[in-house]
Amino acid sequence: MPLTGIEIFKLLPKTNCGECGVPTCLAFAMNLAAGKAELSACPHVSEEAKAQLAEASAPPIRPITIGVGDTSLKVGGETVMFRHEKRFENQPGLAILISDTMDDAEIDSRLERFKQLQYERVGLNLHPELIAVKSESDDAGKFTAAVNKVTQNSNAGIILMSSKPDVLAAGLKECADKKPLIYAATKENADDVAGLAKESSCPVAVKAENLDEVVELTTKMTEAGINDIVIDSGSRTVRQAFEDQVVIRSSALAKKFRPLGYPTIVFPFEMTDDPMKEAMIASMFVAKYAGIIVLSDFQGESLFPLLVERMNIYTDPQRPLATTEGIYEINNPNENSPVLLTTKFSLTYFIVSGEIEGTKMPSYLLVMDTEGLSVMTAWAAGKFVADLIAPFVKKSGIEDKTKHRKLIIPGYAAAESGGLEEELSGWEILVGPREGAHIPAYLKSWKP
Ligand code: SF4
Repeated sequence: MPLTGIEIFKLLPKTNCGECGVPTCLAFAMNLAAGKAELSACPHVSEEAKAQLAEASAPPIRPITIGVGDTSLKVGGETVMFRHEKRFENQPGLAILISDTMDDAEIDSRLERFKQLQYERVGLNLHPELIAVKSESDDAGKFTAAVNKVTQNSNAGIILMSSKPDVLAAGLKECADKKPLIYAATKENADDVAGLAKESSCPVAVKAENLDEVVELTTKMTEAGINDIVIDSGSRTVRQAFEDQVVIRSSALAKKFRPLGYPTIVFPFEMTDDPMKEAMIASMFVAKYAGIIVLSDFQGESLFPLLVERMNIYTDPQRPLATTEGIYEINNPNENSPVLLTTKFSLTYFIVSGEIEGTKMPSYLLVMDTEGLSVMTAWAAGKFVADLIAPFVKKSGIEDKTKHRKLIIPGYAAAESGGLEEELSGWEILVGPREGAHIPAYLKSWKP
């Protein structure tokens, strides 16, 4: 059972030093009990107390890792119902289905789509992570061949799907070292599948008919010493599956109910035959609250929006996406190239740098730290003003790279041009366009 705030408080140093970010040990204990703080935030807690507090400080939804190395996927570990309360921690994995009844050409084309459908956006590579290999033949040989083809041609995380323990065991022999997710332990096969999970140290999914049965199965697994569990509540109607996700998340978080404190897996294609509806259902589960979403296939037009939705929901609302402050050299600039200024908010940076790149004109882009704010917001907040821009430009080192002293500032910061000419002696301040899209036309008239 999780400890209460008072029980946790008794184990803390009680010095009220405030180094954990709250003024008292009691406040920290309450936050810890509510899952709003992490034990590591207190540097003074004793090793003995740490062991006792491990249970209380563990995330209410256990984090589970599928796969190994750089391509492994962590799901679960969530601590809040709503993103604005803190943040969502680990984005749901997206999986493509491969059946052992598909012919080689179909499997190859799915593996190819898995590899090809990756997208660069605001400096991030958006891509799916998992391949679900399903035994529909119930033939261990066919299943092994399909698993083998996947492992030979992809470094994806793997989900092994069969209701037959002997078929799962055959698949595991091919890829146990890649730590696949074993899907699934049911009421009928729980002992055998638990044996496979324990022997291979792989995570295991439980598949039930309803939430009561989920609790029975997860309890059985933990009693067998298996803690890395994923839940399939068994619902295959959109409404029930959605309700299950909410009940599982809220029971784990609000009631600290450990038997439901695991990430979930959902199968939108088992809820509709329409690919467009499947994408919409998957989109709902990205928001609430799936850990793994298995799709019948990947198509760019449905996968890309899901990846973008996932990125948006799983970014930390308290930490805007930002790039690094500094000088960015675009199109091999030289000492006569224009110098443009912008802020390090990712979307701003990628729009501005993309427009400059498109002109093919060699240019320097000075990117200033404005705590993740865009140009207009930073200017309005007093973080992108002459008093701060001038020291940044001087310190940046741009004066060693150019012969001219002309600085192009964004149109939205035009009001700073006078102040900048005073602060940056010897520099001429040019007011550039307000919108990134107008940069190419503006740069056409550039003269050093
Ligand atoms: Fe108490 Fe530790 Fe926080 Fe200091 S850092 S106030 S000792 S909980």
